[in-house]
Amino acid sequence: MSLASDVIPGFTGGTLDRADALRHDAEALAAARGDWRARLLVLDGLMPAVTDDGRLEWTSLAHLPDDAEPILLGLDESGRPHFTALLAGMRVDTAPAMRSPALMAVLGSLAPGEAATYAAARSVIDWHVRHGFCAKCGSATAVFRGGWARKCPACGAEHFPRVDPVVIMIAEHDGRALLGRGKGWPPGRYSALAGFLEPGESIEEAVSRELFEEAGVRTRSVRYVVSQPWPFPSSLMMACIAPVESDALTIDHNELEDAYWVTRAEVVAVMNAEPGARFLPPSAFAIAHTLFRRWLEETG
Ligand SMILES: [Zn+2]
Repeated sequence: MSLASDVIPGFTGGTLDRADALRHDAEALAAARGDWRARLLVLDGLMPAVTDDGRLEWTSLAHLPDDAEPILLGLDESGRPHFTALLAGMRVDTAPAMRSPALMAVLGSLAPGEAATYAAARSVIDWHVRHGFCAKCGSATAVFRGGWARKCPACGAEHFPRVDPVVIMIAEHDGRALLGRGKGWPPGRYSALAGFLEPGESIEEAVSRELFEEAGVRTRSVRYVVSQPWPFPSSLMMACIAPVESDALTIDHNELEDAYWVTRAEVVAVMNAEPGARFLPPSAFAIAHTLFRRWLEETG
């Protein structure tokens, strides 16, 4: 196994230029929608279609149904506009929309960077479907800014796609890493502890709070390592490493089914999928995968 940090985090590395200026320019946006080269992402619900060479499938924007709202994903290097779409009556809480082993298998067949484009499309569509009404006055809102905002015709409030920040962290003590498993996880799955960042917290404060709440350990310091989007529905995963004062654990069993300390050699065995490895490796798309690699690289 290569421990090099040149492995890109899951759902990153997209190549489309998001072209924010176009979103603010009604004329340019209309021109992009009318561009004969414009492409529309092929989705079945929220399930992507993938070509034999691991690319997302696209069709002509001319195939957009009349009652659908196009969402500008961006421009490729030749300036060709790429869209996804919000379809009338779309649901995001039913198969094949949900995260599933089938979806993860499809994503696993994608070339590097392609999943980032899918993640952006998936998260923004999901947000539109769930946020059709104004949080201020309750009126139905309308898509604007090329699909990257909604506006309320009644009170004028503008609403923007939300991103939910999550901290995920390896607590470190005496060369070992603290891992845990949540309730209902697949047998054998352990990962870095994680939790939502709350209003009024820094990343470092959220890491320290979560580690103390879930495992009873006190951080000495917190170091940010790497981040990635997680489009289920729209998290930003921020990975950290935090040396802690003691290895004594007080596990909050409302949050965790179990937690334990693992050695570097044990994590190497897991990441190499060696027989007898202590737990199952995280999905290649999960930030825990990148975090484990970085931790191994640093401690090697
Ligand atoms: Zn309103």
